[in-house]
Amino acid sequence: MQPDHPLTKHFRLTSVQLRGLKKLGIETVRQLLYHFPARYDQGGEEAAIHGLAVGTQATIFGTIGKLETRRSWKRKIPVGEATITDASGSIKVMWFHQPYLAKKFSEGMFVKAVGTVGGKTGKPYLANPHVEPADPTEAGLFAQRKNQQGDALLGSLFAVYPETRGVTSLWFRHAFEKVYANGILDFLEDPIPHDVVERYHLPALSRALLYIHKPDDLKHAEAARKRFAFEEIFSIQVARALERAENDAQDSFAITDGAALADKFLSTIPFSPTNAQKRAIADILADFDTRHPMARLLEGDVGSGKTLVAAATAYAAVHSRPPRRESGTLQVAYMAPTEILAAQHFQSFIEYFKHLPINIALLTGSGAWKYPSKVSRDKPTSISRAQLLKWVMSGEIAMLVGTHALIQKSVEFQHLAYAIVDEQHRFGTRQRRALAHKGDAAPHFLSMTATPIPRTLALTIYGDLDISLLDELPPGRAHITTKIIKPGEREQAYDRIREQLRAGRQAFVICPRIEEPDPAKINALQAKSAKAEAKRLASEVFPEYRIGLLHGSVKPQEKDKVMAQFAAHEIDILVATSVVEVGINVPNATVIMIEGAERFGLSQLHQLRGRVMRSSHQPFCFLLPETNSELSMKRLRALEKSDNGFELAESDLENRGAGDIFGRKQWGVTDLGMEALKNVKLIRAAREEAQKIIVKDPSLSNYPALAQRVSSGASELHSE
Ligand code: ADP
Ligand code: MG
Repeated sequence: MQPDHPLTKHFRLTSVQLRGLKKLGIETVRQLLYHFPARYDQGGEEAAIHGLAVGTQATIFGTIGKLETRRSWKRKIPVGEATITDASGSIKVMWFHQPYLAKKFSEGMFVKAVGTVGGKTGKPYLANPHVEPADPTEAGLFAQRKNQQGDALLGSLFAVYPETRGVTSLWFRHAFEKVYANGILDFLEDPIPHDVVERYHLPALSRALLYIHKPDDLKHAEAARKRFAFEEIFSIQVARALERAENDAQDSFAITDGAALADKFLSTIPFSPTNAQKRAIADILADFDTRHPMARLLEGDVGSGKTLVAAATAYAAVHSRPPRRESGTLQVAYMAPTEILAAQHFQSFIEYFKHLPINIALLTGSGAWKYPSKVSRDKPTSISRAQLLKWVMSGEIAMLVGTHALIQKSVEFQHLAYAIVDEQHRFGTRQRRALAHKGDAAPHFLSMTATPIPRTLALTIYGDLDISLLDELPPGRAHITTKIIKPGEREQAYDRIREQLRAGRQAFVICPRIEEPDPAKINALQAKSAKAEAKRLASEVFPEYRIGLLHGSVKPQEKDKVMAQFAAHEIDILVATSVVEVGINVPNATVIMIEGAERFGLSQLHQLRGRVMRSSHQPFCFLLPETNSELSMKRLRALEKSDNGFELAESDLENRGAGDIFGRKQWGVTDLGMEALKNVKLIRAAREEAQKIIVKDPSLSNYPALAQRVSSGASELHSE
């Protein structure tokens, strides 16, 4: 057995099990070892079989009999069955999907069984229990066993794994035993360098695997979890440090006059920049003045004025000459996540730069535009894509705004000096390189985001970027009024919305789901669906207003159309799922109502309410929770109190468990890694160690196991 062997080489798996494992991301022995338990069950007190209460954990001793295997008649699942009998009575035992377990024992054998009692009172059974041959003298002594600390041991710990159809926790426990028995654990090379393991007192890999899958003390399991959390964060940090080193080895265009140019630009706008904007602009200009490409993240809450920072620094670029040239300018690319946002930014840059003799263009999937047009100085004109590409290549277009269309092969710049990317969470080095096709010099790179994430998460996933923070809103903003609406107050909330609509404003109504749930599951999932809610609002609540619908399974073109209609005020109320989060700018929308609010993370709710904080009109946010548990009310009250996204992200991380942070999956960090993010010291340590290693050994040639871990993707190993 080898760590990278496919499981099928060593395990007899049914097609159901294969599919289940694949769904959990487990195909190799190594991936199996990195599938960690979600928790541990304690055996429970040793009990007599007679009178076992349904739903409790039990440890029983008895004689096994009536062994057989069959298929369940309903679901056709292979089942192994037996009964266990002690002096007080007997109980049925079933193993689903693992009928062969019944064959491991022979009738009359004395065994110990641990599991949760299922079934009905009077007819209980043990489903998928842990069963092992036992020594009759062990029975009765069990509860008195002590551990080293002198605490009474209730029983052994049993790992409970994230399960899937056909693959139970019991299966995982057996699988681990088998791998363990093969001595694989000692074969595995630890991806964390030895000295780092020692410095932070982490259990080494083989020990940690044993601790996490088969602990005899919860403290050990905890130590192992901490180690794997460190391993994950550390691997991500190493990957980012590698990218950073690659970045710093490249050349770029030096922009030396930045400060004077930016000042000149700032004197042309009708307001003065906030201090935070000034600092960010200065950070960027300092980076421009080196021969290596900038790699920087600009983090700022919705409305903090990131576009101005982009514009002032872009201004500096388009006023600089390419090296050894008498004419022409350096070029800037600006990439937005959607066509509408690209068009909006195109307009903003035209506003900012219209007094200048430079060409600005827009390129999206649906066309190409250039400003100014030949016929009019104030308007952009539609041109052919081919023409636009020619002008971009010849350097005639100083600033190109667009969507992902900008990183197609056909788009070639003459002197791309500066690339700005708005809300693209993992825009890595590879995509950055795609922007710089010609490879003579890499562009300075600025990533902008309004997604509030905790500091430790930013340090990890953006570990390759320097960070500038806009922690200040421009003066004179109306503060949003956020209010939790109790069940009896719904009508009042609708009245408030009606007031806004009557005053010519627009509204969002956000629902947690797209469709009505399957009636059979209606109790479990009562969340309002966008489709049904749009219908209901149109017929019962706001029949006099125009209602639009937007959700994740609407096709992109249709989505853009609906958003354009909303932006043009052809729709009054937009009913949507959380797809509207990303920076859509409809300043006339001033009220947002969020159904099932407790289902969203705090950061996400904050992002959502940011949609109505785009103007000087007083904005409102109504939160309608479906349940009123103390914890969810506490979280929602935090939103009533604070309108600082970064504060909320930290409090989300503290209060709600890291796994809930908005869009966890999109960060490529597992639940375990997220737990580690609560520990600032650990994150800093992982980051420092990662950077030290890359300085010492940029190709990781002395760290093959780490190199493998990093290249296999820090999160792919995990299956949580
Ligand atoms: P975001 O950071 O969300 O992208 P924007 O760049 O869209 O924010 O700015 C939001 C609004 O604030 C815009 O209308 C912009 O003109 C305005 N703005 C930006 N900076 C300032 C400032 N220093 N003073 C006043 N208004 C500003
Ligand atoms: Mg923006």
